Amino acid sequence: MGTKGREIVDVNIKELLQLMNKAYADEWLAYYQYWVGSKVAVGRMRGIIAEELEEHAKEELHHADMLVERMIQLGGTPLLTPDAILKETNCGYEAPKDPNTKKLLAQNIKGEQCAIETYKSLLDFVKGKDAITEKIVLEILEDEVEHEEDLQAMLDDMKSPVK
Ligand code: FE
Ligand code: FE
Ligand code: MG
Repeated sequence: MGTKGREIVDVNIKELLQLMNKAYADEWLAYYQYWVGSKVAVGRMRGIIAEELEEHAKEELHHADMLVERMIQLGGTPLLTPDAILKETNCGYEAPKDPNTKKLLAQNIKGEQCAIETYKSLLDFVKGKDAITEKIVLEILEDEVEHEEDLQAMLDDMKSPVK
């Protein structure tokens, strides 16, 4: 990265890159979990839930893109293999073996809650020390909070009796 751009980063860049790559691994797995979930979904409110899962998939992929752009600026390399992604992930992957919409929502809520924790600690790591990464991480954290909210609201809708 540019010399001056590097000078203004006041954290251990190697350590930061490791944390960012771990979050990057989570984003790819979240992307796939949402994407494949949207395809196999069955049961109540299938249409609307599949649509939401597909939208979230796109947003997770966008998060991966935001992270990778910054990692490259910082002189890093994104994880290059699926094996590395599975090894480095914080939040893991839950296969939608039971494609019922209620089950899919529960699995993805769990994923979002892990993502919120991940980005909160990443935010604490860079806060006041790397303004650019801080801005990116905050933007992603806002999306993850919205994702959790969206999914929990849909799960609540499913539980409330039909009027
Ligand atoms: Fe994400
Ligand atoms: Fe998310
Ligand atoms: Mg949404």
